[in-house]
Formats: sequence, structure tokens, C-alpha cells
Amino acid sequence: MTTKHVKRAFKYRFHPTDAQAAELSRTFGCVRKVYNLALAARSQAWQQRAERVNYHQTSAMLTAWKKTEELAYLREVSSVPLQQALRHLQTAFTNFFAKRAKQPRFKSRKRSRRSAEYTTSAFRFRDGKLTLAKMADPLDIVWSRPLPAGASPSTVTVSQDAAGRWFVSLLCEDEVTPLPPVDAAVGIDVGIDCLLALSDGEKITNPKFERADRVRLAKAQRDLARKAEGDGANRAKARRKVARIYARIVDRRRDNLHKLSTRLVRENQVVVVEGLAVSNMLKNHRLARVISDAAWGELRRMLEYKCDWHGRTFVPLVRWFPSSKLCSTPECGYLNEKMPLNVREWTCPRCGTTHDRDVNAARNILAAGLAVSACGAGVRPQRESSRTGLSAVKQEVVPTARLRAAQL
Ligand SMILES: [Zn+2]
Repeated sequence: MTTKHVKRAFKYRFHPTDAQAAELSRTFGCVRKVYNLALAARSQAWQQRAERVNYHQTSAMLTAWKKTEELAYLREVSSVPLQQALRHLQTAFTNFFAKRAKQPRFKSRKRSRRSAEYTTSAFRFRDGKLTLAKMADPLDIVWSRPLPAGASPSTVTVSQDAAGRWFVSLLCEDEVTPLPPVDAAVGIDVGIDCLLALSDGEKITNPKFERADRVRLAKAQRDLARKAEGDGANRAKARRKVARIYARIVDRRRDNLHKLSTRLVRENQVVVVEGLAVSNMLKNHRLARVISDAAWGELRRMLEYKCDWHGRTFVPLVRWFPSSKLCSTPECGYLNEKMPLNVREWTCPRCGTTHDRDVNAARNILAAGLAVSACGAGVRPQRESSRTGLSAVKQEVVPTARLRAAQL
């Protein structure tokens, strides 16, 4: 079994000195400023003159901005994170013009992620110590897990979350080993009253701690809402508390999703999931739902790159497959006209089988996925049997060997 080289991000907390925290905050501010200035210039050129401004033009603009009195402060921080911000904007526009993403938006001081990206010329990594440009001392990193032996990071991203915690993410080359083949396949559906339903009948519920965490979050949010607009200090304190609880939920959830995705990939040779847009159908603005929708997107990404790493087949289906309405009994294929969200169990009028709503959907997803994966990756087969509704099944192109850095 041959090992595979992948780029992998290793993320750690660190505790900056006051001087480092000040330097990083200044850098975050400059990154945001440069990103917004370049975005304004590009949007204006596009809207007024239908011109596309490229990365090199924005890079020349940055040089000019630094020479003005008003923006001279941009010279005080490392230039690398500013250049990286322009590269990220370039990527955002490329995706926008290719219709893969919405138009890039301005970064906000309060809502946007505070982060700065350093490439090799702007940091030194030696003897397990990481020192960033414009800093005298290495960062005090909490090495919660080891880096791969002999790893040398190619990119370092520093960020601060809404709860005020500092993180550094090191992108390194790592080796992964394909898992021994197994003779099993699984279809996965987003459950209505559970986190996931599997085609083998297992239903995976949200871990118990989520409920308690959510109760605490809801209470903190009510406290925050009650604080008067004018009461700055208390309001800020309440906001930090909400952010802390939220950060804890996100951490524990990610941990749980890693365990779950690793298990599913280990146990199955083929993993079939519905298209991403399906979860949008279920979306409402209640907190619980928002969190589990986000969890589904995250789990799907984990399954995709872990399948890629370990030699498994990941099959995403398109969104309009009627998996809930279709009877999953082989050779039956009865299609219900409607399947309201409150129906948890139903009996097929044609074959008499009683189905759990979500497990039935997961079984249909598996069958559809196996049908398309048998046709080979990258093709868009049309299934002939219109009675079963399977004519709606097409396969998205399964990306291979994609950079999977951001997802860890
Ligand atoms: Zn049936």
C-alpha cells in the first residue's frame, strides 16, 4: 500500500506577548484595509468601465497607497500578509467570474475573520520555533499534537476568533496511508430528528453535550439582547460570553464530526451523500437547525477529503433527487407525491414495507450512488427507469487530489 503526500494544515492555539498581540492586531487591520481598497478599485472598474483589474494591478496600487501620507501606516506591518490578501481577492474574483461564488464583499471590522497569512519569506521555523516577520521572539505555541517529522510549513496563518483566542495554522506536507479495502458502502441522509441516518438503519443523533451547550448559548444571547445599546462595557462583556460559548460549541462539534467521518470512511469503501443544497431545503432560522446545517456541510467536506486520502470513493448526488419520497424496497420503487416534514414513518402502499423516513432516504441515496459510481467517475449517466425517479440522478465530478488544507 503506497502512501500519499497531501498538504495538511495543523492548527494550534498560541499566547502572544502584548507586543505580538499589538503587531498582529495592526496587521489584521492593514490586511482588511488593503483588501477593501482593492475590492473597491476592482468593483468600480468593473461597474463603471466593465474592466477587469488583475492581481498585478492591485499589487501596483498597494505600492502607490503605501507612498501616500494617509496610508503610510501600511508600511509598518509585514508586506506579505497584504500581498496575500490581494491574492485571496484575486481568487474570490476568479470564482465570481466563473459563477462559482457570489461577488466578493467588503471585510467588516466587527464581523469578518481576523487573520493574516504569511508565506516562507515572512516567517522562520527552526528547532520547533516559529517567528513571524516584524517580531523579535517566537510565538508561544501550545503544541497540542505533533507536526509530522521533519515538517517545514509552506504557509502560516494567524487568526483570532470572536472569543479572543489566538490560533496559528501551519500548512505542511504530510503522508497518509490508504486504508485496507472493505466490502461495504453507505448512503447518508441528513436526518430531520437526528443528525444523520445511514442506509444500514443506524441513526446518529447529536451528541448530548450539544443540547446543554445550546441552552447556555440561548441564555447568553438573551442576556446580550437585554443589555441597553448605550451600556458599552457590559454589552461588550455579554458579547464576549456569547462568543466564548459559541466557540466551545464549534470546537466540540468539529471534534465529534472528525470522529464520525473517520469511522464512516474506515468502515466503508463507497460513501454516498446528497448534494449540498438539500440541507438548504430544511433550513429555518432556529438556532438548532442552523448549527446542524453547518455541521452537515462540515461533515461532507471531511468525508470528501478523507475518502480522497484513504483510497475510498466519495459520491455526491445532485440536489433534486427525490430520496425521501421514493420507496427503497428493491424492485418496488413506489414514488409518493408528497412527503411532508412531519412524517417520520410511512408504509408503502405498493409493497407494504414500513419505512423510517430518514433511513429510507439514506437507502435510496446509496442505491443511486452505486448506480452512478458503477458508470465511472466524471460521467453524467441518465438512468432509464423513469418510474423510480432515478432518472433525476446525475453525478457531480468528484474532485481528486484537491488541496485539503483549510478543513482541519
Ligand atoms: Zn414499496
